[in-house]
Amino acid sequence: LAEMVADHREDEACTLDGISVSLQINAGMNVEHDQQRLGHYEGIGLYRTEIPFMMRERFPTEKEQYDLYRPVLESTGSLPVVMRTLDVGGDKPLPYFPIHEENPFLGWRGIRMTLDHPEIFLVQVRAMLRANIGLDNLQILLPMITTLDEVDESIRLINQAYFEVRNELLQNQPGAVVNRPKIGVMIEVPALLYQLEAVAKKVDFFSVGTNDLTQYLLAVDRNNSRVAGLYDSFHPALLHALQFIVKRCRELNKPVSICGEMAGDPGGALLLVAMGYRSLSMSTHNLDKTRWILRHLDSEIMQTLLSKVMQCTHPDQVRRIVRLKLEALG
Ligand code: PEP
Ligand code: MG
Repeated sequence: LAEMVADHREDEACTLDGISVSLQINAGMNVEHDQQRLGHYEGIGLYRTEIPFMMRERFPTEKEQYDLYRPVLESTGSLPVVMRTLDVGGDKPLPYFPIHEENPFLGWRGIRMTLDHPEIFLVQVRAMLRANIGLDNLQILLPMITTLDEVDESIRLINQAYFEVRNELLQNQPGAVVNRPKIGVMIEVPALLYQLEAVAKKVDFFSVGTNDLTQYLLAVDRNNSRVAGLYDSFHPALLHALQFIVKRCRELNKPVSICGEMAGDPGGALLLVAMGYRSLSMSTHNLDKTRWILRHLDSEIMQTLLSKVMQCTHPDQVRRIVRLKLEALG
């Protein structure tokens, strides 16, 4: 089976009836350079910048961050790299920046913390923009967005960093070009579902974080073993939310991808593509498997499956239907 799965790894992920799905990788530390081993993929769909931050003893300087980001942007050739601004707090503490809260997952996380510390945000964005000079494959992703004000303020700061970096470069190299990267927002706080139109007017793309969207939609701590049985990405409520998002983004003509773990789960990927998602970002070890599954699907199989699944009232029913389909595929 492993050999069958490895077959066609150089081809793009495409269903039997020709629907192509862009697969990307999630990364956070040293990016894999071994493209031969990974086969075909279309960039880094999520680079979690907090991971290198967590492995240090103090905030990295702008130069240190430049040295982290530049090789990542270089590693993919011209393929896009979606770098997420610092997403600490919740379950991702920085040893040198302790945050003590009763409810860390509902607290000072992600964009909430960095907008309260614009100096941290600006240094990070400046490092990203400088690392992107001459490469132009950077895209910036904002985590934990809940309000439109957060979007506006983030864009204002990104623009400020952009003009600073551009003016500095122009002083040394008149005529040099610094492009402004695309900006995207994570859909992981349920409130965003009802603000898609307003946010879409301000940003270039969306990326759905199913890990946190599951946690917040179901009100289940993603790391608490006592309630782990309730944390379920096949919960009908989550599936309806995901279907709503992809439909709405299509109406709004805004690219949307998935970067949570669900994208790399065989059943999850199957359902997401059936719903209409055409861009999935996942851990590298799930790439081969996902590509193989997609190559054995067609629209009819997916539509039949989806209409059955969307009528389910229990996660276990969904799981059973998906498992039978995966077994039938081999
Ligand atoms: C998510 O929430 O699904 C996500 C991709 O981000 P993280 O797991 O880093 O919170
Ligand atoms: Mg998240």
